[in-house]
Amino acid sequence: MLASSTITISRAFTLTLTFKFSLSIPSLLHSSTKTHMDSPPRSLLVSSASRSPPREVLVQDTGDGFITLQEWQGWGTVSPVPVMVSQIVHDLKSLEKNIDAQMSFAGNGGKLQGDFKVQEDKKHRATYEALGDSEKKLQFFASRQIACRLLGSRGYLCQKCWLAMEDCMCSKVKPCSLWHGMRFWVYMHPKDFLRQNNTGKLLWQLFGVQAATLCLFGIAEDEEIMWNAFKCAGKNKVWCLYPNKNAVTESVQEAFGHGSPVDIDSTPVMTAGDKTLNFVLIDGTWSNSAAMFNRLKEQAKSVWGEEKFPCISLTMGASAMHKLRPQPSWDRTCTAAAAIGLLSELQLLHEFSSHGFDEQADAVEDALVVLLEALTSRRLRMGRSVTRKVRHNRDIC
Ligand SMILES: [Zn+2]
Repeated sequence: MLASSTITISRAFTLTLTFKFSLSIPSLLHSSTKTHMDSPPRSLLVSSASRSPPREVLVQDTGDGFITLQEWQGWGTVSPVPVMVSQIVHDLKSLEKNIDAQMSFAGNGGKLQGDFKVQEDKKHRATYEALGDSEKKLQFFASRQIACRLLGSRGYLCQKCWLAMEDCMCSKVKPCSLWHGMRFWVYMHPKDFLRQNNTGKLLWQLFGVQAATLCLFGIAEDEEIMWNAFKCAGKNKVWCLYPNKNAVTESVQEAFGHGSPVDIDSTPVMTAGDKTLNFVLIDGTWSNSAAMFNRLKEQAKSVWGEEKFPCISLTMGASAMHKLRPQPSWDRTCTAAAAIGLLSELQLLHEFSSHGFDEQADAVEDALVVLLEALTSRRLRMGRSVTRKVRHNRDIC
């Protein structure tokens, strides 16, 4: 019965799939490209107790060009400090000394500005051009993005919720256990790393970094961890939630319902990895998501010998988003909403009905509401409209 109603919903909502991967919070709250123009520059050197705009924020920068493992993993990562990120942080700090121009960041961190930016632009472009192959170029691009965001967010953002310290929502998030037989991989574009309106971060805030693991696109150390887990799990235990109409997708019902080829073992997982169902959530803008999915396919080819990466599409009926209805752009959606959709649809399947997916979906939804409220009150406090139409282009770096 449940299965057939799912299919009905699915047909009614076939068009839906555009919603899922726009990745961040609704556009009305989007901090968008305008953010850095709205906000005054934030300097590493200036502090102010003022909480109203214009304002400058003290960034507790230790002054060294070193990212410790504790600092790196404090942001939700599980990998060792990436070698290339370390190198770039070191180079940025060296450049700062050599040219006698202070490094400073605009807006929500990560975007260099001023004289330092001019000098650094020349330097990083030359480095980029000198790199031989596209793989190295991608890794450099990703690492530089991450390095800038790390330095620009030090002491300014809460490491756990990625909101400005004064907006920290951590006390309002109730941790929850994800069913032990599944694992999310939040495959995040570097430009979404440490973004306040990112929603993928909610997943490890709730479920922990082992149940919802961040993997940064183009960061070799992160991708290696993810692919090692996929190798252990095997190809029939890995799916990507990717709604591109050009990708061949299965519905949750087709992949996991009665008679599906997947061997679902609902007994407790005795060893990590082997029976775990792995779900990749692509956490990047719509325009970046195609490149991210292509990278998954390329890596699938080298690991599994074929380019096909199994994909799941969601039907996303009314249930997941109903509480959020006053926000019409919620169905443009985000990574957390994709997780809610998946958990909700799995809950409808007999095989999964005892795993508490409904509670887990509710937990994500509650966290999403908390994030929405935090971002809304921030905008109000900063004197910005919450209803303003903003541009969708989020490329601020
Ligand atoms: Zn926090």
